[in-house]
Amino acid sequence: MPTRNEYTMLSDSLLLLTAQARRCRSTSPEQSLQMAAQAEETARAAGHNAALIEALLCSSHCLLLMEQEMEKARAQLTEALGLCRLLAKPAYYGETLYLRGLLFLLSYALEDAEIDLVQSVEWLDKANLREWNVVALSALGRVYIEMGSYPTALKVLRDALSLGEDIGFEKMGQIFCISGHQYRADIFRYIGVVYSNMDQFARAISYYEIALETYEQIAPSHAGRTLYNMGIAANEMGNVDLALSYYQRSYDLECEWGTASGAAISLGGIGEVFIGLGQLDQAWAALQKAEKCLSTDEINRGFYADLLWTMGDCLLRQGKSSEALNYYLRTMSLLEETDRASSQFAIHHQKLATLYKSLGDFEKALHHFECFHQLTTEHLEESWTEQMHQAMVQFDTERALKDREILHLHSQELEKEIAERTAIQVALAKAKDELEARNRELALLSQKDQLTGLYNRRFLDGIIEPLLSVARKMHEPVSVALCDIDDFKQINDLLSHAVGDEVLRIVADILQASLRRTDVAVRYGGEEFMAIFPNTEEGEAALLMDQFRGTVAGHRWSQITESLGVTISIGVATQTRHTDSYTLIRDADVCLYSAKRRGKNQVITSSQLQVGDVPPDMLNATILPPAQPGIGTQDYNGTELEGQGDPQ
Ligand code: GH3
Ligand code: MG
Ligand code: MG
Repeated sequence: MPTRNEYTMLSDSLLLLTAQARRCRSTSPEQSLQMAAQAEETARAAGHNAALIEALLCSSHCLLLMEQEMEKARAQLTEALGLCRLLAKPAYYGETLYLRGLLFLLSYALEDAEIDLVQSVEWLDKANLREWNVVALSALGRVYIEMGSYPTALKVLRDALSLGEDIGFEKMGQIFCISGHQYRADIFRYIGVVYSNMDQFARAISYYEIALETYEQIAPSHAGRTLYNMGIAANEMGNVDLALSYYQRSYDLECEWGTASGAAISLGGIGEVFIGLGQLDQAWAALQKAEKCLSTDEINRGFYADLLWTMGDCLLRQGKSSEALNYYLRTMSLLEETDRASSQFAIHHQKLATLYKSLGDFEKALHHFECFHQLTTEHLEESWTEQMHQAMVQFDTERALKDREILHLHSQELEKEIAERTAIQVALAKAKDELEARNRELALLSQKDQLTGLYNRRFLDGIIEPLLSVARKMHEPVSVALCDIDDFKQINDLLSHAVGDEVLRIVADILQASLRRTDVAVRYGGEEFMAIFPNTEEGEAALLMDQFRGTVAGHRWSQITESLGVTISIGVATQTRHTDSYTLIRDADVCLYSAKRRGKNQVITSSQLQVGDVPPDMLNATILPPAQPGIGTQDYNGTELEGQGDPQ
């Protein structure tokens, strides 16, 4: 083992070596690979894990770039991943997973590629290696293209593009030794592929053109591939001439800058266009030329399979069924080696079935029909499941959004409603208070006379009967007095209605003041008042009423108007055991009538009544006291003299 000092020096030189190796891996992968191998050996000997990871990453990356020894690259990356676990550095994880994902992509192990690249994006994000993330995202985009998940691919590629633009593609070159513009062009090309696969060919071509512009300036080897893509789009659009010219330009560039396989692929495109045009000899020539280049190509097995299939098509069109069959079968065995989409397999099985049928080999035809059927069903199920999954994801997302929105709206609505209800409740409570106050007022008002403030007739009607009934049960007397202002009409007529009102108010006040606490004063009618005396005999009531009469008569009315004088006449009655309210009031009325008849300004009680006092319409009533000799002729008792005075 090296000493600490040696270790530091070793470590420094190792890292320098790997850094150098890294720097030249894109421009000169062979040289970089050599340096990495040297670094790997030293790092292993020194037990320097970080340097070993660096060396392994560099080495495998070079192999990937050179598209060579994929198995070795894979082993290196898996080892590197184990070392990452020891060091637990997000940056190493991110880079290693990216490279292994890329490797899986190149070997069509798409699901593995997806897993690695998705994780890689997460780790790179953690390590804040945004430039690397652009590259990882664009690789992930390619995986989705190969998987046929075009919307997802488009999303990922757009993420890569916006992240790259965020960082500035031009800055990426400092890290990757490849111009960042090339990464940008790559993304544009992949987006073009997505649109092309989604049958939006014109759109695809516009993306390819942007990519092509960059490639022609800085990476002509990539321009050939792009032109090939453009040829496919143009051919699909039915623009055969344009397709041929793209393929031709692609072929020329591949020959000059690219790879033999690239040239072969372009030739395959040309062959397909000629088949479409029915120019089968020209097609065959191009396809054969392509086959020579591709047959030894380890990487482009998928393209080789496509080429063989196209050749089979060409032969079939030429009527060479058995030769066509040979090419188709070669295609099938190649496809079985690779991990291509089952939908493609299915189509091939269908073609084979048809071919066998035409050749009369029904057993094989049936076999391939069955395969076709099974694969189609599987594929349909798969795509159905995938579609269901996507729809459900979308549904869930939208529902979650909606729920949130609804919840928000609900809580807003609820808050509003609660606020409204609270306001309503407050208003209601206030209204209730007001109403109760008003009711109390109204109840009082409805029982009281506005002008005089005494109880009114309605109140009297409500209490008189219960009051009498209780009194009867208690064997208590109740007296009532009916008071009527004398010649009141004249006051109104001669002195004005206002004076009349004032007189009413004053009389009421005097009445109220003349009564005891338990007595009740009522304005009975226009200028008529009633006083009720519970538990009071007639004489006592008459006495109180006579005092009242005297006070009224003695009041200084001249303060209101000089000529004014007011007197009142009063009739007093007391209930007997059988008297009801009607009879009682009528008796008092009879007494009042009598008081008027006897000259006004006096009090007459029932016991003072005489024959002739009763008006003819009241004669049937039994209010007269038993006839007493002499009373009938008596005008009035002595009280009438007290306070006597004619008002006018
Ligand atoms: P008597 O001595 O026989 O009772 O004569 P009188 O004029 O008092 O009786 P009469 O029933 O002819 O007139 C009562 C008058 O009282 C008639 C009416 O205009 C008046 N009156 C009733 N209510 C009011 C009121 O609230 N204010 C005023 N100013 N006058 C009223
Ligand atoms: Mg009257
Ligand atoms: Mg009157």
